[in-house]
Amino acid sequence: MRYIFKFILLFLLLFTLNPASSEQRYVFLVTIDGLRPDAISKTNTPNLTQLMQRSSFTLNASTVFPSLTMPSHTSLLTGLDVKNHKHTLNDYQQINKLLNQKKYLPIDTIFTYGKQNNLKTTFICGKDKLRFLIKPSPEYNILCYEIYNDRDNTIQKITSAFISAFKTQRNNINFIHYPEPDLSGHINGWMSDKYIESLKKVDIEIQKLIVLLENEMSDNNYLLIITADHGGTENTHGSKSKEHMTIPWIAYGNSVKKNYKINRDIKIYDTAPTILHFLNIKIPESLDGEVIIEIFN
Ligand SMILES: [Zn+2]
Repeated sequence: MRYIFKFILLFLLLFTLNPASSEQRYVFLVTIDGLRPDAISKTNTPNLTQLMQRSSFTLNASTVFPSLTMPSHTSLLTGLDVKNHKHTLNDYQQINKLLNQKKYLPIDTIFTYGKQNNLKTTFICGKDKLRFLIKPSPEYNILCYEIYNDRDNTIQKITSAFISAFKTQRNNINFIHYPEPDLSGHINGWMSDKYIESLKKVDIEIQKLIVLLENEMSDNNYLLIITADHGGTENTHGSKSKEHMTIPWIAYGNSVKKNYKINRDIKIYDTAPTILHFLNIKIPESLDGEVIIEIFN
């Protein structure tokens, strides 16, 4: 009898010491391609603006040099600076050649770390070349759309594909990439009326994601991070200039501080270790990024 009593005590002790061990955690990482943070403050983007008031955020985070889609997404997902991941290839056709040879990014990302910890990923992107960042595997649900074929509908397609995938199977790691307003910037110029118009369209999609989280995930611990890969000026980006390098970084969730303006420097490669920390995954020492610990309650 005494042994049973001791056993029950031990069980209760373990349970109270580690209440989060069996808790499900979900990450939603959203990149808005080519979003200059000053476009948020200068424009009426009601959903992003309202979200920021309920988030920990900065409009003064930095991407990596070269400020291009593939090197910066590689830093975002690996936690490494460019000098350490060494993947500066951004050319569409060259990446397509690699994909045709079934070659993918040969470095660990939040997706591979998740897989090593039995977590599955949903990966939705609006530029086909981003498929290079995730090698197909049964643990990954990968859906990519080529925006050049149908610019008007791609943004909505990305959101609806994500929502239906998530309703079918709730994976713990979720990556969603919106290809606008980058494309509009290349065609019409950064901060042009059409660039702002395409940002407003993305803003509407962001609200659909927030509604999904608030309706379906209120009982779960989730972390939403919204950021960008680079900014731009005129019809281009890639330089070390402030307008190309500065990005927004917005974190929202039930364990994240609300209405908290982050004052420290944030680099795009701080995102991966922050996500791993949230998911209770051991952070490799080799990463350049740091956990943005002050955002958590
Ligand atoms: Zn980009």
